[in-house]
Amino acid sequence: MSDSGNWWGPWRRLVLLVAFAWLVGWFLGAPSLILSLGLLALLGYWLYQLQQLYSWLIGPEKPPPDAPGIWGDVYSRLYRRWREVGEQKALLHSRLDYLQDSLSSIYDGAVMVTASGAIEWSNAAAERLLGLRYPGDRGHNMLNLVRLPEFHDYFVAGDFQEPLRAWFTSGQERFLLFSVTSFGGGDRLVFVRDTTREERLEQMRRDFLGNVSHELRTPLTVISGYVDTILGNPGLFNERLQRPLQQIAQQAQRMEALLKDLLWLNRIEGPASGRHLELVDMGGLLHELREEVRTIHPQRQLDLQLDTTDKVLADYRELYSAVSNLVLNACKYSADEGLVTIKWHRSGDKLVLSVEDRGEGIDPVHLPRLTERFYRVDNSRSSRTGGTGLGLAIVKHVAASHNAELHIDSTLGVGSTFTLIFPRSGTD
Ligand code: ADP
Repeated sequence: MSDSGNWWGPWRRLVLLVAFAWLVGWFLGAPSLILSLGLLALLGYWLYQLQQLYSWLIGPEKPPPDAPGIWGDVYSRLYRRWREVGEQKALLHSRLDYLQDSLSSIYDGAVMVTASGAIEWSNAAAERLLGLRYPGDRGHNMLNLVRLPEFHDYFVAGDFQEPLRAWFTSGQERFLLFSVTSFGGGDRLVFVRDTTREERLEQMRRDFLGNVSHELRTPLTVISGYVDTILGNPGLFNERLQRPLQQIAQQAQRMEALLKDLLWLNRIEGPASGRHLELVDMGGLLHELREEVRTIHPQRQLDLQLDTTDKVLADYRELYSAVSNLVLNACKYSADEGLVTIKWHRSGDKLVLSVEDRGEGIDPVHLPRLTERFYRVDNSRSSRTGGTGLGLAIVKHVAASHNAELHIDSTLGVGSTFTLIFPRSGTD
């Protein structure tokens, strides 16, 4: 049966009614009157059915009333539709309950909020970690309840690519990791993980490394001081000891450089609060660095190309250490007379620093691991050049903490280009 099939019945009945009323009216001598009475009766019947339908629609959970013809059809279709919608709703509810149950039982805090931060739902862990109560805090703004300026700024900025790490006190002091995902029409799911234990272990590791490096420095300074004094007075030692003493001095120097780099890496890995951010004039920094390089590599040709006066928001010492590592590497790993080109320029909304050398280059197999601590392409060469194996780890760390990217392009036997790409801070 087609959807409009049932309509033939009412039409047929209407035609029959008109014909019958007109026939009776003609027989009685008043066809118009009888026809009008017949149509009026039909209208009354339809109004009655409409009224029945209306009363049923107010509470359609009870079965519909019995009605003949097209009205019965309308009732059964509506009733079927209503039951289908009811079943779908129940299914959605059970899925939502399932989802909320699984989120409720996880160890991490989970909070569903609207784009403006109004709480829709939160689990028990969110109460433990953030002090949020559900359903009591439903509808309240999470930003007002979680009094943490870092989280406020993070949520309002809306860039959730990286999680936020911050100390937070809600009864107990905890180091929390917040990650936010957007879903639906701008709603957000905030996950909160307690990483206090990991943070404390990391802190212990940093303290240990810092203390050991510091403690080793003093005896080492004494050793190299004495060796230098002895080497400066040839009368004090047998000639055969000249070479061993020189080696002791050289190795002590290497160890000093290593401890210096270790301590520095340890420091810059520490809390961001120790960082002093300012608008750094890269041109000035590069001129200062060029003077330093001249004292270490007097024959070196350095080509400085400053195409922009843009400043970069950075900690001067950290930035200087990153750039100097790149430039000194370019000098170390290329021939003394080789040209090293340093460029500072703007590219769209980025600021780019590149250091290019025409040295030995790096085999592509090494590139993925090059910035790891103590990773070296050629151990013997690095030892000869006095490298500590920590230079690029420092560069990578400084880049990450300044929202910059480090790119390495290199061709074996042709040379390498190390590029640092910074976001523009908007001030020249
Ligand atoms: P190192 O103190 O040994 O130089 P780095 O971390 O600075 O340690 O560099 C890691 C390794 O990357 C180096 O040992 C070297 O093999 C390679 N390298 C770094 N810069 C260059 C460059 N400009 N050209 C060729 N190789 C390089």
